[in-house]
Amino acid sequence: MTDATTDPRWAIAIHGGAGSMTSETLDAEAVAAHEAVLAAARDAGRAVLVAGGSAVDAVTAAVAVLEDDPHFNAGRGAVFTYHGTNELDAAIMDGRARDAGAVACVTHTKNPVRLARAVMEAGPHVFLSGEGAEEFARDHGVEQVDPDWFATPERWRQLEELKSRKLGWFDADMKYGTVGAVALDAQGHVAAATSTGGLTGKRWGRIGDSPLIGAGTYADDRAGAVSCTGSGEQFIRTGAAHEICARMRMTGQSADEAARAVLAEIGTIGGVGGVIVVTPTGETAMPFTTPGMFRARADSTGREEVAIFS
Ligand code: ASP
Repeated sequence: MTDATTDPRWAIAIHGGAGSMTSETLDAEAVAAHEAVLAAARDAGRAVLVAGGSAVDAVTAAVAVLEDDPHFNAGRGAVFTYHGTNELDAAIMDGRARDAGAVACVTHTKNPVRLARAVMEAGPHVFLSGEGAEEFARDHGVEQVDPDWFATPERWRQLEELKSRKLGWFDADMKYGTVGAVALDAQGHVAAATSTGGLTGKRWGRIGDSPLIGAGTYADDRAGAVSCTGSGEQFIRTGAAHEICARMRMTGQSADEAARAVLAEIGTIGGVGGVIVVTPTGETAMPFTTPGMFRARADSTGREEVAIFS
């Protein structure tokens, strides 16, 4: 446990999705554009932590920046479903008492992470979906937008490509772009948040790991905070985010060891992706099994990083 007045120790890590991007497929301009947004999102969270704010506020601020930016598959710039709509999923968790909020299949909420937070703080439930989640959003004054806000030409092109190449329902080989953040605040508390449009061409109300507490998102002050990205079905089947926290809490594995062990397990059932982890001692880890993962971190020791490739 750290003391805010004598030891303002804090840490933040963010991701903008794991995927197949390499320095050959992403040109210098695209690299610079993505890195600028990653830095801005991380710094929005960092500003909260430096000012002594909470980990929950820091992850909300960082994820909202990425949701508003069309480069990432969350909020504006979310991928399209098979039927040409944008259906958004998000979750947030506070490591103090393991309070959590999540939403799935929302279509009008500008920042799904803020709706997940309202669910966590103002509602009796943990997980709301579809029309009910939107009604909750309206009742609680969470900003609503016309669905056109989320749509971008590039994501439409990706849907057309997926359909024309008959890639199947999911774009497992295309880059992902889900976003997430984990943070440790100066009071020693951790939090995690994840937000996504899911997978291009998803059907049948498909929901991935991102909004599922324990799969794509988890935070527990006794272990750490985790946000995942990758092939959601395998992350669900391994209970990835909770499994990483359980390993840290019960086996004494470091954040990096626990994260790599769970990614390896995901690999054995055919999944790929990445995770970001922060612990109550300020350790961060950002391993991934895809060619790249959009990511950034900073902490009170002066460590700073923005990266895309391995
Ligand atoms: N995990 C997300 C999902 O399955 C996708 C991603 O991380 O890009 O919905």
